[in-house]
Amino acid sequence: MAEECIFCKIAGGQLPAEVVYQDEQVVAFKDIRPVAPVHILIIPRKHIPDLTAITPEDKELLGHIHLVAVQIARELGLAERGFRLVNNCKEEGGQVIYHLHFHLLGGRPLQILG
Ligand code: 5GP
Ligand code: ZN
Repeated sequence: MAEECIFCKIAGGQLPAEVVYQDEQVVAFKDIRPVAPVHILIIPRKHIPDLTAITPEDKELLGHIHLVAVQIARELGLAERGFRLVNNCKEEGGQVIYHLHFHLLGGRPLQILG
């Protein structure tokens, strides 16, 4: 765990969050400022600062995050309608929290990115 990382603290239970799924590798919780009817953040428990910091060791973890995203989407009725899974990477990608996370967005038609 990285000191002062709010997502590490959420994963460790030291900060509250509306957790919708968790297992030994990942935690998924509602975004505090949702931009869509469904806005969930899926994070690894492991502190990875951003997507460029992944290594071949993280292959299984990244696949697992995608499977969890689909499972949550299915449970929330989004699997048929569709949804978006987004990672913002570093400054120009719009990243604010430097603990790897994927936004699961849905529940309304989403605009084209960019
Ligand atoms: P980023 O811009 O880094 O991809 O997204 C960070 C996201 O984390 C934002 O959508 C923001 O609303 C969310 N966020 C920031 N602080 C907290 C928090 O303390 N709790 C929760 N649940 N979400 C947070
Ligand atoms: Zn962290």
